[in-house]
Amino acid sequence: MRALLIEDDPTLRAQLRAGLEEAGYVVDEADNGRDGHHLGATESFDAVVLDLGLPVLDGISVLKRWREAAVTVPVVILTARDSWHEKVAGIDAGADDYLAKPFHMEELLARLRALIRRAQGLASPLLQMGALTLDTRSGRVTVNGQPVTLTSHEFRLLSYLMHRPGSVVSRTELTEHLYAQDFDRDSNTIEVFVGRLRRKLPPETIETVRGMGYRLAQQA
Ligand code: CA
Repeated sequence: MRALLIEDDPTLRAQLRAGLEEAGYVVDEADNGRDGHHLGATESFDAVVLDLGLPVLDGISVLKRWREAAVTVPVVILTARDSWHEKVAGIDAGADDYLAKPFHMEELLARLRALIRRAQGLASPLLQMGALTLDTRSGRVTVNGQPVTLTSHEFRLLSYLMHRPGSVVSRTELTEHLYAQDFDRDSNTIEVFVGRLRRKLPPETIETVRGMGYRLAQQA
């Protein structure tokens, strides 16, 4: 999963980035509203963490512009403590959730997991596909109850596919959602990771749909 982090406080931004990366996200970041707006309008993300008090362009304006342009990515806003009017303005502008500063990283991660699931119509934090299970809370993957050890790249790839059961996902989409903007993206890399992941999963779990991409088989 790929997250966009827009926060002007360098200390908080570094903490949030570290926490998100530890949880398996690839992260792009901006320290002002204009750059953040541009990234969100031009790149593909699975979730956005948006501070409201930002230089150049404030967070509410960023969010309003995205929503007016039909950018539907789930957004969690970060508000000042006890500022109920900021929460109301943020939700009215199109935020999906909010957190008041200071907050615990675990709470932000839980809210992001829930938003990403709901964006795909998934209710449970436990994703299952036949013998394969992925617990979005712990990042644990099992096949028939036996743990499977995945690298962070393999986990991100599997998690993205398991959030979209039965859907064909193109290599381009995977490339966009598994790497940050500054990464040297090459869709051949995706084939290599799919190959490695396949060797760790039951046969035919990941189908190749010729000319289109990959699909997680319904009855793996
Ligand atoms: Ca701020």
